[in-house]
Amino acid sequence: MSPSASADGFRVGRFVRDEALATLASEAFDVLVIGGGITGAGVALDAASRGLRVALVEKEDFASGTSSKSSKLIHGGLRYLQQHEFRLVYENLAERQRLLENAPHLVSPLPFLIPLFGRDGIVNRSVARVYLTALWLYDLTGGIRIGRRHERVSRDQALAHMPTLRADRLVAGFLYWDARADDARLTLAVVRTAVLDHGAVAVNHAPVTTLVTGEDGRVRGARVAPEGSEPFEIRASVVVNAAGVWSDEVRTMDEHGDPHSIRPAKGIHITVPNEAFPCDIAAVIPVKEDHRSIFVVSWGDQVYLGTTDTEYDGPLDDPSCLPEDIDYILGAANAVTTRPIGRSDITGLWTGLRPLLAPVAGKHAPSERTADLSRRHTVRTSAGGVVTVTGGKLTTYRKMAEDTVDAVAAELGRPSLTCVTKDLRLRGAGHASRVPAQRLDATAGVPAVPDDATAAAAHLAGRYGSETPDVLALAEGRPELLTPLVEGLRYLEVEALYAVRHEMAGSVADVLDRRTRASLRDARGAAAAARRVAGLIGPELGWDAQRIEAEAEAYAEARRLELTRAGLDPAPLPRPATTAAAVATAADAPGGRGSG
Ligand SMILES: Cc1cc2nc3c(=O)[nH]c(=O)nc-3n(C[C@H](O)[C@H](O)[C@H](O)COP(=O)(O)OP(=O)(O)OC[C@H]3O[C@@H](n4cnc5c(N)ncnc54)[C@H](O)[C@@H]3O)c2cc1C
Repeated sequence: MSPSASADGFRVGRFVRDEALATLASEAFDVLVIGGGITGAGVALDAASRGLRVALVEKEDFASGTSSKSSKLIHGGLRYLQQHEFRLVYENLAERQRLLENAPHLVSPLPFLIPLFGRDGIVNRSVARVYLTALWLYDLTGGIRIGRRHERVSRDQALAHMPTLRADRLVAGFLYWDARADDARLTLAVVRTAVLDHGAVAVNHAPVTTLVTGEDGRVRGARVAPEGSEPFEIRASVVVNAAGVWSDEVRTMDEHGDPHSIRPAKGIHITVPNEAFPCDIAAVIPVKEDHRSIFVVSWGDQVYLGTTDTEYDGPLDDPSCLPEDIDYILGAANAVTTRPIGRSDITGLWTGLRPLLAPVAGKHAPSERTADLSRRHTVRTSAGGVVTVTGGKLTTYRKMAEDTVDAVAAELGRPSLTCVTKDLRLRGAGHASRVPAQRLDATAGVPAVPDDATAAAAHLAGRYGSETPDVLALAEGRPELLTPLVEGLRYLEVEALYAVRHEMAGSVADVLDRRTRASLRDARGAAAAARRVAGLIGPELGWDAQRIEAEAEAYAEARRLELTRAGLDPAPLPRPATTAAAVATAADAPGGRGSG
């Protein structure tokens, strides 16, 4: 798959796994990136857009690690101001602004409420002053660039956004602005931009098993064992390790000893229907016991809550949400609401590991808590020439990539290659599509709900942006593909087909967990839809009837296990009669009511 040149001189490629595997096996690259999370994706895009020949390999699916399991906020990090991380907040807010401009279909502004509680209508003055100072600093370090500054709101204004907040304790609140993104789709958009617009070559389901060292003692590539084909070597002048919480494993392949540089911290989220915690924005809810806070985030007709932040030393591949993790979130939420949330309200959950940098010997972290470890990133080059990037945030992936590719350029002896990603728009960020509403309207397959075609159009535009017509084109003459993929959710069958044909989805989980976010919204519904999804994508992937059954059952079993481990009932919940019509209306609209 040799890339051709586009009209503006950039190389263009194709996002097809078999072709990419053949190219990886036969050509030599300037850079091989290990890891297809947001960090590796960002590095691939930065390097390819500087004109380098880039390969990227991901052992599972793009974003299947931490990058699909975040709080999905593109934010400065208000709380980092308390840790006096002013420069970090400034950088985060600058990146937030760039993302709003470069991926407006995927990243949207999101207002946050900080409710102020007190006794007899009086707020603790020092608490209010701390928030006020932090919010002024937030605005001044760049927050204001979103076009709104923070404001104080009355008790009634706060209740209008979150009617079940405890009115007996609520005194007032602050509103400020941040942004949100669908983390997995953002990661995918970055990889696809690197490949389709800049000629990078990327594959998923292809783990690196060993590094290959040249006669000069420098690492000159890696051996991969792709699912469905024979292992082979990829040749590259420089290897980048962007393996997140697994980066010590990759470093061990190079440095022959575990550097113990990462301290993973687990974080979980839960999803509940909007009725369980009514809100139309996001909120920061204080957790008295440990002086942390959790986020409550409106997500279409659902709400998600998180996160925990606990040290983790279990298996990196499959972190579980445990009953005590759920207790922590429910305890924090139920302390401030009049409508207690119970386990039976929970429809979805996800668990991620933060790749935090372990404190360096001799340097003190503010405390032993992972919550207090820095969210900064580091880039280091080993004696063998492997460039490792670790730490950081979803929000700062572009800056992390810039710093990493600067180190790569130095290794290649080409320091004059300069970064061009500050203004580089991502795939789908072209002219927003206004087409779909009418086309969906004319389709018999769309459920008959008032305004449904408009909501469906907003849903698609908020996920695919200017590529929406390409998604809909697959349903030309096949109106049945415009029916919901998962009962009660907005995702359409055509999205599963688009995912395998154009987004390199290779499994039921790729479709239900990351190309759509169905399982995060409704784990039981996703399990029930596994057979339908396997039946849709199986023929595209060459599966026979037996494999379709096996893949569907394995996926459904994994969802049931996830629920059981968390202490939740895996049996399908009884659905209210109105649900199919009501759920997810307006979900995923780009204006902040949900982003996938
Ligand atoms: C609970 C939680 C909430 C968060 N919330 C936010 C937030 O709201 N905003 C924000 O900005 N940040 C947030 N973060 C941080 C952010 O999600 C992470 O910093 C970011 O996703 C890390 O991306 P990564 O690419 O470095 O790691 P990953 O996404 O884990 O990617 C590493 C990839 O490397 C692959 N890999 C590993 N070994 C190999 C190998 N041998 N061969 C090939 N591939 C390999 C893995 O499969 C994985 O996909 C949150 C994190 C957590 C855990």
